[in-house]
Amino acid sequence: MVRYRKVSKFYGETQVLHEIDFDLAPAERVAVIGPSGSGKTTFARVLMTLERPTSGTIEVDGELLWHKKKGGKLVPADEKHLHKVRGKIGMVFQQFNLFPHMNILRNVTEAPIKVLGLSKEEAIERAKTMLDKVGLLDKMDAYPSQLSGGQQQRVAIARALVMQPKIMLFDEVTSALDPELVGEVLGVIKEIAAEGKMAMLLITHEMGFAREVANRVVFFDEGRIMEEGPPEKIFGNSHPKSPRLSKFLGSFD
Ligand code: ATP
Repeated sequence: MVRYRKVSKFYGETQVLHEIDFDLAPAERVAVIGPSGSGKTTFARVLMTLERPTSGTIEVDGELLWHKKKGGKLVPADEKHLHKVRGKIGMVFQQFNLFPHMNILRNVTEAPIKVLGLSKEEAIERAKTMLDKVGLLDKMDAYPSQLSGGQQQRVAIARALVMQPKIMLFDEVTSALDPELVGEVLGVIKEIAAEGKMAMLLITHEMGFAREVANRVVFFDEGRIMEEGPPEKIFGNSHPKSPRLSKFLGSFD
């Protein structure tokens, strides 16, 4: 579903990603953990087409993301191609970025109408199903400012799901929330995960959540995947761990 090959990213002289190889299978759920500044967000941003890798390739659902093949060679992809491949990925960020001047229903129907070309009726039907899924159908006429942070984040999840992506990417979606609102957002993500319909990449500082939801955990450090495995291996006590991972996990005790 997703395939990184030798993906590196430099900001000026600083190398933030070091030749990353990574595969995400359909319906697989991978949690990405690691210290602040280890490159997790950059790892996600090159998939979200927000940052171009300095070198290496990324494939999404069998198609190259940043490149096109031309005469047997790889050439940089144009915006049209990027847009097409990007459409397979749903994204939810730390900041919910809802449109403040639109009500909740319009926030969710806007992209299916404008990007997918759905009729207003079709889009409304789909949007209502998604708002119901995140428990906010009764808020569809409200405006974002009338909702709590947790509710706004659930709308942002519905807005991503309504596009029926093959991959969902969650980048620290609870970091901006008051602690008492974290649970409701993680609960919604757990329900989506339990449906097992999509591949999911979850960058998170919530270790309990990573353990519960992911079927693989990837530990990033200094721009490299230092360790990966099933949650019981990464979080459990029965497997030896690198000192760096032990230190990182120890900071949550
Ligand atoms: P956090 O958990 O704090 O969000 P992270 O693991 O997601 O951290 P990144 O945000 O990917 O880490 O950052 C990796 C490194 O790249 C950091 O040293 C950061 O300062 C640097 N960096 C990120 N974006 C830029 C940029 N646009 N220009 C220059 N350096 C950047």
